[in-house]
Amino acid sequence: MTTATTRRGWPVQSTTANLTPFKWITGQVLAGDVATILDALCQRFHAEVEPIRKDWSWGWSYRPVRGYTDVWSEHAAGVAIDLNAPNHPMGKFNTFTSAQQATIRRILTDLGGVVAWGGEWTKRPDDMHFEVRRDPAGIARVAKLIRGEQSTPAPKPTPAPSTGGAGTYTVKDGDSWWSISRKLGVSMEALIAANGATPETTLYTGQRLHTGRARRYKITRANVLNVRTGPGLRYPVLGSAPKGTIITATGRTSDGWIEGSTPYMASHGQAGWWSGHELTEVK
Ligand SMILES: [Zn+2]
Repeated sequence: MTTATTRRGWPVQSTTANLTPFKWITGQVLAGDVATILDALCQRFHAEVEPIRKDWSWGWSYRPVRGYTDVWSEHAAGVAIDLNAPNHPMGKFNTFTSAQQATIRRILTDLGGVVAWGGEWTKRPDDMHFEVRRDPAGIARVAKLIRGEQSTPAPKPTPAPSTGGAGTYTVKDGDSWWSISRKLGVSMEALIAANGATPETTLYTGQRLHTGRARRYKITRANVLNVRTGPGLRYPVLGSAPKGTIITATGRTSDGWIEGSTPYMASHGQAGWWSGHELTEVK
């Protein structure tokens, strides 16, 4: 008997033997590199696009593509997930704002293009849906980047001076471009570009990096300030921070919304949007 495959050529999983429970969704995904990549996607989607509701999100499903009886869904291989499904139903266009769509595309670019998004499908859009392409070399490379494994041994450099001033970051054991960009709340692309590097450039412990576009702001004009999932009051509130909190910025809009993280948020790989009217830049 031959193994059934999906349209992308992934083997269909008829049992859960090769799957792993996945904290972001109700259900499971294919274990290994695919799970690593989907987890990175979910972390950033949750922090930068909108909070993921686990009970509205799912993965592996042993079934054909919706509307067909003879074509296996990528869900049957455990390489596809649906996020916040009731808010982003199949067949509906633009269930995300244009800012959210731009953020999703930026995340997928950071993931090396190995994840496809149903929101790009022109005939029958599927905004909730993400699936991993059948690209073994790409998947291995991206998963390695996320886990911080290095393909070549690190050179023995002269240690850089100890303190990391404003706009610099000192590389620690186990850091990767990916993990540092998450800590700093900047995009991996911007971080790599700020250092004249490529994703394959090896990092070494003690190395000093430019953090890219980071500027620092203090909450000065509000006692408590909300942080939102996007640049505007219509976006959901992610949390809040008290007066005096320092925010490391990674971007700003022309109408004064600032993207950035508090130290707490940065340590959890989160970023959000703040109203710049309540902030003062710290030099
Ligand atoms: Zn789906």
